[in-house]
Amino acid sequence: MKDVRIRLLHPPSVKPEEVGAAIRGMERFRAFGVQIDNAELGENCRAVLNGVRNGGAIKNMVNATAPAITFSDFHGGFWEALASNDILPLGLTPSCMNEIVYGEYSSRLEIRLGLSREKEGAIVSLFRIRGIASTQTLSGPYRTADDAGLALKAIETAVVHELGHVLGKTGHCESEGCVMQANSSFEDFINRFVRPGLDFCRECARTVNMAVCRMTTGY
Ligand SMILES: [Zn+2]
Ligand SMILES: [Zn+2]
Repeated sequence: MKDVRIRLLHPPSVKPEEVGAAIRGMERFRAFGVQIDNAELGENCRAVLNGVRNGGAIKNMVNATAPAITFSDFHGGFWEALASNDILPLGLTPSCMNEIVYGEYSSRLEIRLGLSREKEGAIVSLFRIRGIASTQTLSGPYRTADDAGLALKAIETAVVHELGHVLGKTGHCESEGCVMQANSSFEDFINRFVRPGLDFCRECARTVNMAVCRMTTGY
């Protein structure tokens, strides 16, 4: 039997309350027998990356000084699925994450909240979420007392969704009210996922549970 462990990795610029919100999202997976911990990626962070799958790639991305992490940085940087490093990384970064979405006639850059790969790791970006308190584009003014609370709840929800992908859920769920549904925009994510506080539907909970069981027994 092996432990399935997820480690939250973040640069010092991530605020303690943001770290706390991500940890609340990770705690959802304790029910499936997953262990969790967290570490800051400061100057001397070698030790915290010991045994972390794709640790170097995650560190470079979350600490990046470039304005944006791209989808291809993320997918190109991961190649350790078969390595013996067992701790799965969850990066939390203030950087913007972009994905090029190819349309029939034109392509556009889309800002991503999270990127993930099964059994390899995930990154959640705080870029849009931090903007909640300063934007008015999300159906009505957001300069109220619960902006901060909403932003933290958004971090928690994004973490649950991305870790759901890391731990077995391929693609998205069709069940209304499930945290593994697809979202069509950031506003949709906030209104349909974060405000009501979605969780896994029974089917997705089963999928995650079985994936964790298989990882625990080494299959
Ligand atoms: Zn997804
Ligand atoms: Zn579901």
